[in-house]
Amino acid sequence: MNLQELDREFIAGTYARFPVTLVSGKGSIVKDDTGKEYIDFGCGIAVTAFGIADDEWVSAVTSQLNTLQHTSNLYYTSPCVEVAKRLCERTGMKKVFFGNSGAEANECAIKIARKYQSDAGHPEKHVILTIENSFHGRTLTTLAATGQEHYHELFQPLTPGFSHIRRNDMDHARQLFSNGNVAGVLVECIQGEGGVITMDPAFLKGLSELCLENDALLMVDEVQTGNGRTGTLYAWQQFDIVPDVFTTAKGLGGGLPIGACVIGQKAENVLKAGDHGSTFGGNPVVCAGAVSILDRMTEDFLASVREKGEFLRSAFTGAPGIEDVSGMGLMIGLKTVRNAGEIVTECREKGLLLLTAKDRVRLLPALNIPTELLSRAAEIILEACKN
Ligand SMILES: *Cc1c(COP(=O)(O)O)cnc(C)c1O
Repeated sequence: MNLQELDREFIAGTYARFPVTLVSGKGSIVKDDTGKEYIDFGCGIAVTAFGIADDEWVSAVTSQLNTLQHTSNLYYTSPCVEVAKRLCERTGMKKVFFGNSGAEANECAIKIARKYQSDAGHPEKHVILTIENSFHGRTLTTLAATGQEHYHELFQPLTPGFSHIRRNDMDHARQLFSNGNVAGVLVECIQGEGGVITMDPAFLKGLSELCLENDALLMVDEVQTGNGRTGTLYAWQQFDIVPDVFTTAKGLGGGLPIGACVIGQKAENVLKAGDHGSTFGGNPVVCAGAVSILDRMTEDFLASVREKGEFLRSAFTGAPGIEDVSGMGLMIGLKTVRNAGEIVTECREKGLLLLTAKDRVRLLPALNIPTELLSRAAEIILEACKN
């Protein structure tokens, strides 16, 4: 049996994989087992922020790997503190809890919102509001948070205490708050899996005001939008809001598993010894990589991400076969006349790896992609869209 057949034999069938076996790469170029090269516009779903086998990241990770790979959280180690310090200093937040994935980061945020209310003497305020069409993860609790029914159907009963606000509908949000049982709101500034849909800034502002009035926590899911992806370190920094908690994962690790729940002043002391934990959370090797990632995301670098995003946006806006361009920075969605899946297939055959998100083509190139590859990829996409 070849590898793809063995995979189907032994790997649980949860993924509809593309018919490609990737074996190596460098930067924004990945190679398959036939030696064919592709421009990588998926980055392992916004994970490899500086591309494949990036020298600085590899060196940070391997040097920690050769020093101390794991200790458990019963001991102090330096790399996780270095990551947490940078996250707090660059966002005005106060504390960080580390897990290993986006779902875990969101689980932590949800626990914080519930305990914040219990600590305040309001255990009846336990409902977490999220937005319709959102995506927050695959654990039973983050599935409950995810505002898409088709993920729920076969896994009942889910964790209770979640309601979904219609997107950009402040009246609906006020109506749900009026029940007096809301612990917090969890929201993506741009729905990623939901189709690269940017939230109305006035809606985000409105939610933040509702949270303030009702002493509920505003929690922003930056798992996909975070770590430079949208042209600022976190997407909320481009909106007129300051979350009480934000979560991130994907790009922060650069290719190793990490999740971070970043906690502002209001809830900084909610989690106490024994309230939460993770064996691998804050692992030194993963965190050494994350330090190298954050240190390279300077203001100049983030400006270059915005520029590259603008370059793509202007290439696609009004182009034949493209009806709408959504997203921010280097997180871009294209509403195409042709079926998005067909475009992804055609581009892959021409040497460009893309993703879809709902009915859109989704572009998530490495943040340091050379402009020459950006232009080449844009040409391939434009050609596929107009057919
Ligand atoms: C990917 C994603 C998650 C889940 O992250 P995992 O690491 O797969 O658990 C949660 N929220 C958003 C917005 C995501 O894009």
